[in-house]
Amino acid sequence: MGGTGMMANLARGAVRAALDAYYRHSPAAVAKLNDVVAKRGEGSWVWTSDGRKFLDFASGIGVTSTGHCHPKVVSAVQAQAATVVHAQQNVFGAHERAMELAERLHKRVVPAGLPRFFFCNSGAEAVDNAVKVARAHTGRPNVIVFEGGYHGRTIGSMSLTTSKTVYRAGFGPLMPGVFVAPYPNCLHCGVQKEWGRSGYHPAPYVPPFDSPDARRCCGSPIDSIEWMLQMQTAPSETAAILLEPVLGEGGFLTPPPGFLRTLRQLCTKHGIMLIADEVQSGAGRTGTWWGYQQFDGGDMDPDLIIFAKGIASGYPFAGLAARADAFDKLGPGTMGGTYGGNAVSCAAAVATIDVIESEGVLQNVAARGQQLMKGLVALAEKHPNVIIDVRGRGLMVGVELAGPKGIASSLTRAAAKRDVLLMTAGSRETVRFLPCLTVTESEVDTCLGVVAESLAEALGGQ
Ligand code: PMP
Repeated sequence: MGGTGMMANLARGAVRAALDAYYRHSPAAVAKLNDVVAKRGEGSWVWTSDGRKFLDFASGIGVTSTGHCHPKVVSAVQAQAATVVHAQQNVFGAHERAMELAERLHKRVVPAGLPRFFFCNSGAEAVDNAVKVARAHTGRPNVIVFEGGYHGRTIGSMSLTTSKTVYRAGFGPLMPGVFVAPYPNCLHCGVQKEWGRSGYHPAPYVPPFDSPDARRCCGSPIDSIEWMLQMQTAPSETAAILLEPVLGEGGFLTPPPGFLRTLRQLCTKHGIMLIADEVQSGAGRTGTWWGYQQFDGGDMDPDLIIFAKGIASGYPFAGLAARADAFDKLGPGTMGGTYGGNAVSCAAAVATIDVIESEGVLQNVAARGQQLMKGLVALAEKHPNVIIDVRGRGLMVGVELAGPKGIASSLTRAAAKRDVLLMTAGSRETVRFLPCLTVTESEVDTCLGVVAESLAEALGGQ
């Protein structure tokens, strides 16, 4: 398989030599997790130039949502590439695919209260623009973000990112006006340990936000923001609270019950915009169109959603969906970008939305997500002091290991040896699972089998 119309498979030595030659042109700053050359992709699978076939549970960091080269996305892209590719957004009023996409997003994908869209090319660019919108709309300078959040690598978005110091160390000065609040992490909360939670535990006791217990633990992140608004950034100077509904790069943490709803109340009280960075958790990844809809009955009700990654199945496309009045203070020319709303990317996004709807993809995410979780929980029950948490929603699932340091990377390397692509997340020992949203039952089973073997190898190797 995989050879149609392409070079025959290369011997491994030849691949190594070719990669070494390429790496001389590619800075080490761009980390490489696997020294293989991708040649062809189909569904959940990627073939490499040395003839290996990988089961892809990374999906290009949650991007190839409809699988590699879904035939309907391919044909939409091919048709658009032969029609018009770059109908620049300032030069023309629109192109047909942008109009189609806006209509689909509004009628079928994004909550009705967020009818204004801005299209650009990457998650980081969208995040930078979200900050511009919030600052202009509120007339306030500051932004509150959460510890462990990841929002991108531009100077602006890097300044909002605290998932690892490697993203910012040496690149300062950072953008001012950023305040970092703690993120609730029940697993590592001392009070949870007092309540007897250690090792793998299926469900932590999370007290209601207004109870005295909550003041001791999970209520405290909300308290911290209230204190922050009294001591560091006055509400009158705070434009936005920006968060990932499921904290992605920071370790696939889910918010405790009531957290998102309480944030909404706080933002409403102080006229602060609540921005959901759904770059990784959005576009169906969790089983609903948007990750925040998985929690508190969707009561987070953001003022602005940032989307990218999975929305266009791998084509560079990102954007904002905002309240009707959000852009009101921004005059012509204040936002834009040469490639924003590229016609081929818009065609891919339209096709992606159609595939997700017409092929029951959200239902598949829910079913396969449950299967994956169940399998990982069974593994955790066999190794209760090794796997300390299995968490996530839909097909955004993380497994945290107790340690030692490096064990999550050992596990992903052991899986890659067995032809399964996985990634780690965060500064603790977490392995993340991000298969394409069309993944099948047998593919999830294959992955689970490889994870069990890889865990055994990682433990043996420690
Ligand atoms: N926000 C979140 C939540 C992300 O996960 C990412 C990428 N991992 C970004 C923003 C940045 O997106 P991009 O890499 O497209 O700039």
